[in-house]
Amino acid sequence: MEKISIKNSGNTFSEESHLNWGSIQSDFEKAFGSEIYSSWLRDISLVKEYNHYVVLGVQTRFFRDWITSRYADRILSELQRHKLSINRIEFKIVETGKAIKNTKLISTVTDRKITQITDSVLNYNRLNPNLNFDNFVVGKSNKIAFLSSKKICDKLSIYNPLFIYGGVGLGKTHLMNAIGLELSKKNNVMFISAERFMYQFIKSIKKNEMVSFKDFFRKANVFIIDDIQFIRGKEGLQEEFFHTFNSLFEKSAQIVISCDRPPNKLDRVQDRIKSRLSGGLVVDVGAPDYDLKLSILGKKIEEFQNSFKEKLNLTQEVIEYIAKDSKSNIRELIGIFNRVVAFSKMSNRALNINDCKIILKDVYNSNKIVSIDRIQNVTSNFFSINLEDMLSQRRSRTLARPRQIAMYLAKKLTTRSLPEIGRKFANRDHTTVIHAVKTIDKISQTNDEMRKNIEELKSLILSD
Ligand code: ADP
Ligand code: MG
Repeated sequence: MEKISIKNSGNTFSEESHLNWGSIQSDFEKAFGSEIYSSWLRDISLVKEYNHYVVLGVQTRFFRDWITSRYADRILSELQRHKLSINRIEFKIVETGKAIKNTKLISTVTDRKITQITDSVLNYNRLNPNLNFDNFVVGKSNKIAFLSSKKICDKLSIYNPLFIYGGVGLGKTHLMNAIGLELSKKNNVMFISAERFMYQFIKSIKKNEMVSFKDFFRKANVFIIDDIQFIRGKEGLQEEFFHTFNSLFEKSAQIVISCDRPPNKLDRVQDRIKSRLSGGLVVDVGAPDYDLKLSILGKKIEEFQNSFKEKLNLTQEVIEYIAKDSKSNIRELIGIFNRVVAFSKMSNRALNINDCKIILKDVYNSNKIVSIDRIQNVTSNFFSINLEDMLSQRRSRTLARPRQIAMYLAKKLTTRSLPEIGRKFANRDHTTVIHAVKTIDKISQTNDEMRKNIEELKSLILSD
């Protein structure tokens, strides 16, 4: 969701044009229709306007997530019709949903002792009050990372650095942000993504301000840097990071780092940096299991009901279905939840499993059109069998199981009908497909290995 546009920061357009929010709102209504407009867009406020981007205010996280997942692109193009230079929008949660003064944005930060660079881009690198320890749901896959994060908050530098790694959407940034929030009460916290660190670094070189760059980062006593994998292959940046790291470390500043992989897997990173990174405590966050997904959904429902003061119309069956069928990525889980809720609110009725199936499919297919051919290729490769053998009539287990898995995935990841899928599997009958789907569903319920294979296959199929 976070869009950072470093490359496009030239001053091609003048500051002169200012958005007329009232007229934009009426264009929204025309473009989106009055139903969507009044349900979602009417209360969006213009918080701040820069040359190339705007900050828009929405009332709740739920609204923000829903609007970004669904309407952000179109909102952006509407805005561009009013001001061509805008290439990015950011959403900010504001309490009232009404326009607020610009100063409000800043003042939430200045109460806390968080170092900021006055530059507007870096200003956006603030701690998000909504990502805290209280709303981080703990389960098997993230317990150690959670406990270690809490521990350094109780006792600074007990592990230094603390290195948290794991796949996308599993809660790393949430945890880092929670550490920052907790520690900023009493410390000078610097929280930055590696990408923005680079942005600032390059800018300082260009402006001949390296001295203040160094001072700036080195005065923190808690330094949190997100997505360090970004430094791979960037020699100059690594050099600077190494020195920043060392000088912070020497004065016993707490360093917290997140990454998409463990330190030893960081290719194209200097060995001396890798060894620094792994010199403290290295912990991982894994994919959430069913129980954790259920608890997260429970938490989201609670948050929703608290902020909307209304009861959610979701049956236990539907909740379990979402937990079971969503991918192992918490960000997507929440995205799906938001869609289901929105769908239910708009259609004004309780949803059944079938509705959810359609919504989930829509989510999976929205980013990517998956073909049955691709599913078959990836699956046969994955099990190291011949594609022709997999589609053949032979019944040996080593062929039949992958065949069933491929049919199952064809059903789950495409919108093809059962007979269509059957035809793509050497003209099998649709009842064979039904049987395959049921069989794999059933095995997945009890067999970890199967579940893991399916997850891996799904992500292979959906990746490029
Ligand atoms: P990452 O940085 O690992 O890619 P994020 O921290 O951005 O992932 O998490 C993605 C989304 O999932 C965020 O909205 C975050 O609040 C939510 N999330 C992740 N883990 C949890 C959790 N354990 N409890 C509640 N929300 C979570
Ligand atoms: Mg992250």
